[in-house]
Amino acid sequence: MPGEQRVALVSGAARGIGAAIATRLAADGRAVAVLDLTEESTRDTVARIAEAGGRAIGVGADVTDAAQVAAAVERVAAELGPPTVLVNNAGILRDNLLFRMSEDDWDAVMAVHLRGAFLLTRAVQTHQVAAKWGRIVSLSSTSALGNRGQANYSAAKAGLQGFTKTLAIELGPFGITANAIAPGFIATEMTRAVAERVGVPFEDYLVEVAKEIPVRRTGVPEDIAAAASFLTSDEASFVSGQVLYVAGGPKA
Ligand code: NAP
Repeated sequence: MPGEQRVALVSGAARGIGAAIATRLAADGRAVAVLDLTEESTRDTVARIAEAGGRAIGVGADVTDAAQVAAAVERVAAELGPPTVLVNNAGILRDNLLFRMSEDDWDAVMAVHLRGAFLLTRAVQTHQVAAKWGRIVSLSSTSALGNRGQANYSAAKAGLQGFTKTLAIELGPFGITANAIAPGFIATEMTRAVAERVGVPFEDYLVEVAKEIPVRRTGVPEDIAAAASFLTSDEASFVSGQVLYVAGGPKA
């Protein structure tokens, strides 16, 4: 539907990478649904988009809950229009070495990353298929290649890569592309919490991590937003089923 404003839904967009993606997609001209656990938490992101002249609403939903996801997608369709751009970004960490990892640590991470992406994608693809156009981007991670203390997270992030490739095959005939972005180290509340857990001030932690990254800096959420902007653009219609590592080098 050329000429009409496309609607993007970004999960986990109250802060961090999701907030940067939502802001960037709004700047690209999309109307944006900023989804996070509570509508209240999305206020800052929604306000920032509106201040920049964009169009956004905040939506509260737990991506692991099928009924909440269905209601959220319906609300977006009613208030902004059918969502045809989806960014599966909501995520949590429950790091522990395998012998200390609880079943809850495992299940919680699988639920948010994998079940959440499945539920949101299933709900949104109805609108994408109807529009015969769609863009799906899911947040994987360099941890998909393996990372000590992250058996749950790395399995989920590798799982999202397989999910993405299958979506590309199933949904391609409807003009829908599916890709994954695998960030390396990005400075957000998530990585700040990791620094706190190992007892290192965040600023010092960033300096240490940057030494190991080929471009000699840590990432910022806008690095990921730029990749999401490309993968959700009209021009990216022949790029599908790919995993784009955005990590300042070939791997973590
Ligand atoms: P973040 O700052 O922790 O933000 C994640 C957001 O997701 C939070 O607002 C969180 O809400 C929300 N969320 C968590 N569970 C949810 C649920 N069940 N339903 C809806 N929203 C939920 O994380 P980030 O660093 O921006 O990371 C964003 C994505 O990139 C994640 O998928 C992460 O795994 C991935 N990633 C990050 C890095 C990195 O270095 N930062 C690297 C690779 C991949 P609450 O705050 O209320 O919990």
